Amino acid sequence: MKPASKTPDWVLAALEERHQQNLMRRTITLESPQVPHAQIASQDYTAFCSNDYLGLANHPSLIKAMNDTAETYGVGGGSSHLVCGHLAPHQALEEALADWLGYERVMLFSTGYMANLGVISALADKNRPVVQDKLNHASLIDGALLAQAPLRRYLHGDVASVQKLLTKSSAAGLLVTDGVFSMDGDIAPLAELSQLANQYDWMFMVDDAHGLGCLGENGRGCLSLEGLDSASLPILVGTFGKAFGTAGAFVATSHDYADYLTQFARPYVYTTAMSPAVAGATLASLQLIQSVEGQERREKLARHISYFRQRMQSLPVELIPSNTAIQPVVIGDSKTAIAISEQLKTLGIWCTAIRPPTVPVGSARLRITLSAAHSDEDLMLLCDSLEKVLTAKLLSAKRLNPM
Ligand code: PMP
Repeated sequence: MKPASKTPDWVLAALEERHQQNLMRRTITLESPQVPHAQIASQDYTAFCSNDYLGLANHPSLIKAMNDTAETYGVGGGSSHLVCGHLAPHQALEEALADWLGYERVMLFSTGYMANLGVISALADKNRPVVQDKLNHASLIDGALLAQAPLRRYLHGDVASVQKLLTKSSAAGLLVTDGVFSMDGDIAPLAELSQLANQYDWMFMVDDAHGLGCLGENGRGCLSLEGLDSASLPILVGTFGKAFGTAGAFVATSHDYADYLTQFARPYVYTTAMSPAVAGATLASLQLIQSVEGQERREKLARHISYFRQRMQSLPVELIPSNTAIQPVVIGDSKTAIAISEQLKTLGIWCTAIRPPTVPVGSARLRITLSAAHSDEDLMLLCDSLEKVLTAKLLSAKRLNPM
């Protein structure tokens, strides 16, 4: 009999290094839905780490739409969109999204990660560089790597730094930014970036995963906040795993780009279409986002954001200038961030510590995310608990270092 294969030493060494640096990642199993309250190992917590910003993931209309669509169309698409996986619910969702955002076409992708890989790897290559914000999401960076395109990253949100790179570049390419930055919650200067892209004849793409549904008129995201449209922002990516409360993603664009991506975006061509039942639930979500209830949920979220920021003002914490649902409290080193997250758990608050390489070294943080599903009491508990834990931390740091 062949001996059982041994785990290579380099795998074990890499794991040990992660352990030593307090950077080990593990999954956590929830015994309940994820927001506003989550049960883990039979303990109840108020959760502040979900991207379900509008609290739609458990909404009865979405659950009903998912069940109804599954009854009619089944739960699986059975193939890619280009073989037999593009069913009526997919088409209806694409058309409704295109209408909502004012684009000629929308294409669905199975995840946001794949949408970004697909679009960038199809549009960039060795001769068409990619210029990106330093804090862009990993999937945007990975798209440029997959394209084997020259990749330049500019200082976060710094338009002068973009202009320098575009001026220096020998060829035009693709300028890409997050709309709302996933780990900081601030918003990119989209109107200025769009102008620069236009001036230098570069393609312009925005990933508004965290803005769509939450921001702007009718929840149309950064696009609407910054006064852009399909002409000034020709390639817009959105995801459904956040404010929409489901899963999957889309690209809103022109007929020409959509036809091109249909030929050349490999993560579109070579993968199974999202479940038609998820497409049905996402359409119900889009209808809610556009309704009075959607507006009320956005307003509630906005009230939570302003209450949270006001309460944090008196605390010894570094807050990032963010007016979105993402309200990070930057701690610094990973060990302390983990310790604070654990202390919050003892007070019934669940918020995972986000550490490098997801965020820059030395900026480990509690990525606190607020949701319209939270009540005012939930917010109060969060702020009271942070006050307790962070004040105690400050006092103990002073004792250790009295200067
Ligand atoms: N873009 C951004 C800005 C994100 O934050 C994320 C995921 N958190 C993605 C894309 C990936 O989306 P998905 O989870 O649908 O793969």
